[in-house]
Amino acid sequence: MIIKYFSIPELEAKGNIRSLYTTSKDTAWNFEDALSYENYLALGQELGISPENMVKTKQMHTANVKIVTRKNGGDGIIRPLDENAPYDGLITNEKNLLLCTVEADCLPVYFYDSVKEVIAMVHSGWKGTVKKISESTLKKMNQAFDCKPENIMVAIGSHICKDCYEVGQDVFNEFSKSFDNAEISKIFTRKNTEKYLLNLQEAVKLTVLKNGVLKENFFSSEICTYHSQIEAHSFCSYRRTKSASERMLTAIMMI
Ligand SMILES: [Zn+2]
Repeated sequence: MIIKYFSIPELEAKGNIRSLYTTSKDTAWNFEDALSYENYLALGQELGISPENMVKTKQMHTANVKIVTRKNGGDGIIRPLDENAPYDGLITNEKNLLLCTVEADCLPVYFYDSVKEVIAMVHSGWKGTVKKISESTLKKMNQAFDCKPENIMVAIGSHICKDCYEVGQDVFNEFSKSFDNAEISKIFTRKNTEKYLLNLQEAVKLTVLKNGVLKENFFSSEICTYHSQIEAHSFCSYRRTKSASERMLTAIMMI
């Protein structure tokens, strides 16, 4: 079995970073899914690591970010995670530890500080974006490892794009509480009297730039989970399939 995935070229270009997002071909990545262990095992063989070198989030649309080490290896992969202590982001300064999140339209954010040699992987749906989980990640990287935002690369993986992500007044109202008017006008486009189009990527970009990340260090794959295909591969979209279990793995590792 071969797991099909794509990478973030700007991160791969650094030489010591592996970054990936899978496709709609392999969709079992949560511990609860019977096939997930086999998928992690197969992916590990491609990357040259074992499932003990992988750590997964317990995602519940929080802004919680956890610092992990080799001791956490296998969390959410070979053993279940504690639902009472959820976290949607992972940070490490260790090599050969694959940080894993899963998505189906939500936005994956990859972080890399090449000076301090620290990486992070974050799941940012609309709720996590409102709560500014990317800001929490940058602050935690700074507190724990003295990472400076101007040295941090931020890359966005596949997610539902600004033309496909229709939301209602309730979502607009939540964003209005944590983003100012100028930002809101960049994040939302009114579609009709009831609906807006939400640009999640712009919201994350505004958040990280405001926190000191440099414009030239911000990258996006510009792949939409709802409408894009690459080489006949499509991606997992909850909006398109309504599947509660089909997810894509998005992950980063330092080697
Ligand atoms: Zn789209």
